[in-house]
Amino acid sequence: MLDVLIIGAGAAGSVVAKKCAKNRDIFGRIHLASRTLAKCEKVQKSCESEITISKLDADNVADTVALINEIKPSLVINMALPYQDLAIMDACLETGVDYMDTANYEPRDLAKFEYSWQWAYQERFKEKGIKAILGCGFDPGVTNIFCAYAQKNLFDEIHYIDIVDCNAGDHGKAFATNFNPEINIREVTQRGKYWENGQWKEIDPLSVSQMVDYPEVGQRKSYLLYHEELESLAENIKGLKRIRFWMTFGDEYIKHLTVLENIGMTRIDEVDHNGTKIIPIEILKTLLPEPSSLSENYEGKTSIGCIIEGIKDGKKRRVMIYNVCDHADCHNEVQAQAVSYTTGVPATTGAIMVAKGIWSGKGVFNVEQLDPDPFLEELAKQGLAWHVKELDANESLEIDKNAAAA
Ligand code: NDP
Repeated sequence: MLDVLIIGAGAAGSVVAKKCAKNRDIFGRIHLASRTLAKCEKVQKSCESEITISKLDADNVADTVALINEIKPSLVINMALPYQDLAIMDACLETGVDYMDTANYEPRDLAKFEYSWQWAYQERFKEKGIKAILGCGFDPGVTNIFCAYAQKNLFDEIHYIDIVDCNAGDHGKAFATNFNPEINIREVTQRGKYWENGQWKEIDPLSVSQMVDYPEVGQRKSYLLYHEELESLAENIKGLKRIRFWMTFGDEYIKHLTVLENIGMTRIDEVDHNGTKIIPIEILKTLLPEPSSLSENYEGKTSIGCIIEGIKDGKKRRVMIYNVCDHADCHNEVQAQAVSYTTGVPATTGAIMVAKGIWSGKGVFNVEQLDPDPFLEELAKQGLAWHVKELDANESLEIDKNAAAA
């Protein structure tokens, strides 16, 4: 039995708590801590079995250390925000407890995410005899594991990867983000980037798009974005020539985002407002709907996967590995929309891998460095079925290889 401390009672963290509470043969004590106690209480009430809760500001390392010493978990699952990653890793180091998260560290005052800050903990985690599992959501997370699965089971060499992410759902609001608004908007408004022939190539934000054919959804306009799993996959998938990430956005979303950017509402620096310092994006986050509030009337599906091209037995091969998830089904099961569900279920599945001693090692790992097969088998049991679709290797890619360079 694994005792866990989950930090963050937001949209995705509440799914982790509810899913762990459904797996009582695996998890012993389940403790949920977050900045706002009322949110923990709400989650606690809707869990299938008993969980304990408390208030915690995870920016404060001493407070997190004290809570870990009180609860004595074997694993801390960080479902708060990327800003808290290093503080929670410090608390895990001090107390000798394993760490897991779903998004890499990002400083508050710089809209830039990269793994360097967390990879720098490698030796200290090894010396302490503990592990950090980074990016165990859907993307990053399952998409990395699809690539690892393809490398292990489907290909002799992988040359091209296109990660394609479509949310074809409708929440009925004019503008809302499916995960934390601040983090989402920072991600989407930064410069795009992809990796080709050993080099990073930058593009203006949302300046390159392509139609992509998504399983169970169909053709959707998809924009080339920089996404964090590109950094670790470019390191860990050997022989790779290019990796890119594509995401769909509706016209309404782009229209609102453009206006908000143009009027300065997405700024992350301090602005003087009548003698008070404010950060516009924080005000915007307060005004926008919480991602956890969107699920009730959400209709439609997410369709996310990896189109992978390479060589098998001397022949060209191209496959798509993907999952399709229905917003309404997620709401019926755990009162969450599919973006939170597809983040929380992989984190729970990763915790099950730790509980069973399948993901064992010491040090800092991106999920593609761990055994993909048992994870994917468990993922399907936990609610996210996945599929491998053979694509015609002689057809041109659904995504034009040269589009991004144009
Ligand atoms: P939410 O904003 O819904 O939830 C974040 C929660 O963290 C909130 O409850 C918030 O508390 C809490 N929190 C914030 N700061 C602190 C702190 N200092 N101490 C304790 N708790 C804190 O966001 P999501 O659930 O949508 O996202 C959670 C994480 O999941 C993010 O890091 C996001 O980037 C990641 N994510 C990963 C995905 C993937 O596929 N890999 C996809 C989607 C999200 P309060 O409510 O009081 O503000």
